[in-house]
Amino acid sequence: MNKIKDVKTTVYKWTGPVVPPAQNFCTNPTDILKGSGDKMKSFRFHKWLVCEVISDDGKIGIGNAALAPEVTKKAIDCYLKDLVINENPFDYEYLWEKMYRHTLAWGRKGIGMVGISAIDLGIWDLMGKIKNKPVFELIGKRTKDKIPVYVSKLYNQPIKDLQNEAEKYLNEGFKMFKMRFGWGPKDGEEGIKKNLELVNAVREVIGDKNELMLEAYMGWNLEYSKKIIPHLIKFNPKWLEEPVIPDDIKGYSELNALGKIPIAGGEHEFTYYGFENLLEMKAISYIQYDSNRVGGITAGKKINDLAEKYNVPVIPHAGQMHNYHLTMSHNNCPFSEYFPVNKVEIGNELFYYLFEGEPKPKNGFIDLDNKIPGLGISINKKFKSNFKVVE
Ligand SMILES: [Mg+2]
Repeated sequence: MNKIKDVKTTVYKWTGPVVPPAQNFCTNPTDILKGSGDKMKSFRFHKWLVCEVISDDGKIGIGNAALAPEVTKKAIDCYLKDLVINENPFDYEYLWEKMYRHTLAWGRKGIGMVGISAIDLGIWDLMGKIKNKPVFELIGKRTKDKIPVYVSKLYNQPIKDLQNEAEKYLNEGFKMFKMRFGWGPKDGEEGIKKNLELVNAVREVIGDKNELMLEAYMGWNLEYSKKIIPHLIKFNPKWLEEPVIPDDIKGYSELNALGKIPIAGGEHEFTYYGFENLLEMKAISYIQYDSNRVGGITAGKKINDLAEKYNVPVIPHAGQMHNYHLTMSHNNCPFSEYFPVNKVEIGNELFYYLFEGEPKPKNGFIDLDNKIPGLGISINKKFKSNFKVVE
């Protein structure tokens, strides 16, 4: 019988070149606060946690976490790892519940659940490696020949540059595009005008037949969203993402009930319980959990089943292997997000430098290999010199 012998956590810090931050690069939840300074500070992250779940016969399952990696590492090292050592990885359901209930007083949402997610991903990768099967084969098999992906970047920048970026993706064969806004409630009518110019510029390049998603990254509020939505309708967006902060569930529900633009969200929500609440409140029309935050594969597959009953599709945040496997395995996950490989800017890009094995999109689709066991990623040695182990 396989047992978990150890759980090893390592925080990698990117020390390679970075694109310097630009003001109004993207709306974010700190915009509303007083003061100036670097408004993008909390938005950028240049560290990533790798969580290795090691079996007694030496197999290594790889999990990961991107949110506050040093603190997540502490949560795993001090509280979570002892709960899974000497246990059978195939008892994943029991192990999830064990970690959840032992940390319930402080771990339900946020860092505690990110730590549980990192271990759970490691457990699923390990199970796949022991069974010699890809994770999607273990959770629902193949529901689609390939996974359509939408390209997700298009941050605020001069109009011509934004259009050039959109054109590049169009030429690469993408048919779905997500862009960001630069201005929010503090920027008044002038900001609304500039936001609309951005959307108009991208729509102009991608035409009417392609899909356009809009992302506010928690940077607006209910009043501002209600004011700008009527002006956005003519651009026919597929969704408006995170217009308000994740705790403003009533705000989400009110915007979704307008029936003007479907509201998307969930990358900052946690567990089955969090999503059950959002679904009951009719707060979102698209679910965007990230399995390296929401509670791993174990939580993700339950949310997929739950959301299907509510007719709400799940389009996980960020693409990346831990999410692609969930998307491949479920009919209620029609497509996925894809962050294009780029110079390191916000931090989303780090995944591609830290891990190898991510599929490359072709004409707006990615595929998963039936023959690669587990999640299919390993530490990328090519960029090793650009990372420093900080803990
Ligand atoms: Mg987002």
